[in-house]
Amino acid sequence: MSVLQEIHCSHCGAPIEFNPGEIVATCKYCGFTQVIETGQAFIFEHSMILNKFDTASVETPIREWMKSGFVKPRDLPKSKITEKNLVYLPFWMVPIKATTTYKGVFERITPAVEKEGKIDKEYNWLVLARKATEFPTKEYEVPLEGKIAYDFKRIEGFAKVLNSELQQYDAVEKAKQEIENLHEFLAKEDVDRIIEIKTDFSVGDPVYLHAPVWFVVYQYKSESYKLFLDGATGTVIKGDIPSINVGLF
Ligand SMILES: [Zn+2]
Repeated sequence: MSVLQEIHCSHCGAPIEFNPGEIVATCKYCGFTQVIETGQAFIFEHSMILNKFDTASVETPIREWMKSGFVKPRDLPKSKITEKNLVYLPFWMVPIKATTTYKGVFERITPAVEKEGKIDKEYNWLVLARKATEFPTKEYEVPLEGKIAYDFKRIEGFAKVLNSELQQYDAVEKAKQEIENLHEFLAKEDVDRIIEIKTDFSVGDPVYLHAPVWFVVYQYKSESYKLFLDGATGTVIKGDIPSINVGLF
C-alpha cells in the first residue's frame, strides 16, 4: 500500500488525497485541478474524453474482441472476466512540430554516396503522465472527437482518476526525446550510416487530458490475461492472448 497524503482543495476546501510522486491533483468534489506543491490553480487546458460503458455493457466489446481474429482459441469467448476497472489515465498531449535534418552515407551501392535528408512533421504527441503505470501508450490513439473540457460530474462514481506524476515541462522533454528516436529510426531507413543528425522543435501549448481506459483481467483455462479497452470507442488497445495449442507437432 502506498502512503496517501492529504491537502485541501484550494477551491472548495475538500480533502484531496494524493500519492507520493503525484504533482497535479484533481478534486473529486468540485473538479478543480491544482499543482500539489503550491496549491495554485493549474493553468493549462484540462480536457477529458467521455466513457461510453458501464461494468455490464463493457462486456460486449470484450466478448467481440475474443470472438474476432484467427490467432485466438475458439473457446476464448467463454473466458471468465474477473476484473474490469475504469481508470481515467492522465496524459499530456504535446502539439509539436519537429524538423530533422540529417546527413549520412548510403552504402548499399558501390561506391557509397553521401546523402542528405529532411523529415518535417507535426504531431499531437501523447505522453502518459504516470511513471509506473503499465499501459501501451504506443498502441493507443486518443479518440479526440470525444474531447471536452474536464467535467468532474461526468466521472462515474466507480471510476478511478489518476493524478499526474509529470510536470508539463517533463512531458515536453519526453515527447522531444521520443520524437528524436523516431526520426533517427526513419533516417536510418534512408541512409545506412548517419554522420550528422539534428532536430528542431516548435512546441505549442500542451493539453492535460484524462482518458477512460478499462483495465480488464480475464481467466482462460485457469490462467489470467490482461487487456486494455478504450472506454470511448470500445476498441481493445492491447490484449494478452493465450497461445493456441495447434497440435502440429
Ligand atoms: Zn474541490
